[in-house]
Amino acid sequence: MRGAVLYAPGDIRVEDREDPKIMEPTDAILRLSATCVCGSDLWPYRGIEAVDRRSPMGHEYAGIVQEVGSQVTNIRPGQFVIGSFFASDNTCELCQAGYQSSCINKEPIGAGGAQAEALRVPLADGTLVATPDLPPDDLVPSLLAASDVLGTGWFATVAAEAGPGRTVAVVGDGAVGLLAVLAASQLGAERIIALSRHAPRQQLAVAFGATDIVTERGDAGVAKVKDLTSGLGAHSVVEAVGTQESMLQAIRSTRPGGHVGYVGVAHGVELPGTELFFSHVHLHGGPAPVRRFLPELIELIWTRRIDPGKVFDLTLPLEQAAEGYQAMDERRAIKTLLWP
Ligand SMILES: [Zn+2]
Repeated sequence: MRGAVLYAPGDIRVEDREDPKIMEPTDAILRLSATCVCGSDLWPYRGIEAVDRRSPMGHEYAGIVQEVGSQVTNIRPGQFVIGSFFASDNTCELCQAGYQSSCINKEPIGAGGAQAEALRVPLADGTLVATPDLPPDDLVPSLLAASDVLGTGWFATVAAEAGPGRTVAVVGDGAVGLLAVLAASQLGAERIIALSRHAPRQQLAVAFGATDIVTERGDAGVAKVKDLTSGLGAHSVVEAVGTQESMLQAIRSTRPGGHVGYVGVAHGVELPGTELFFSHVHLHGGPAPVRRFLPELIELIWTRRIDPGKVFDLTLPLEQAAEGYQAMDERRAIKTLLWP
């Protein structure tokens, strides 16, 4: 099969890779219908995360089951399925509590590289969720978005306790931040402040339900959010970047008693204890337990009540993955969908 491999920072190649095979009786093999490039793929692509060997890339996937292991009972060949970036058994105590991305048996999907024609998914019964039927082509991008960016934005918004009567601010205008806006809208937030300086992203934020756009960053962005909230700060703030500046901006934009939902993969973030102590802010986040939300998200997409696939503003054949990475790195694209 063909698959994307990172050789070194800035050097993505699509090449022949070994076809995935059933290795455990709980595995499934998928023929991927669509895959994509994640904002978190840009950390190693930019060399901010070390690349010490040739790494298969990608952890977002949707496709058709080709084969299942002997112990798989819920998932059948021929089904269209979506899973998250961590395989999980969905039965342990942590999964049952809704934290499948901390499953005691979790396995990272990224190790197998989902930017490819096919993928091995461990713990198939716990990990994969099937759609009611084979989807029409135009629903595939939105279903793919549920695999990570939508589920992650949704979790951030739930972690930030967004809901009716509450003001939500979203720090980060990548695909996750934009879909956190959509999630906040679906959860009934009264006011949604999107922080973005890029016109196309501002437009998408408004289409997803943002009521206010703030273009300032850092302390100026904090001041603007406070201006919009009677000087108090937002009830709920989503952090979807992962830098020191964005995390502090999120904490400082939150009112005392409010909640930060942080899902940007932290790089060099250090929290000042004294400031945190006096902030009275709740912090909750981490790698999103997307599996918790998949049935609900698939239902919303299947019935066309949400259209998260709009975040894909660049669509390329898998063979052109390198251009997809470059476009996102240069912020020419919000998110790149790859057709295997
Ligand atoms: Zn588990």
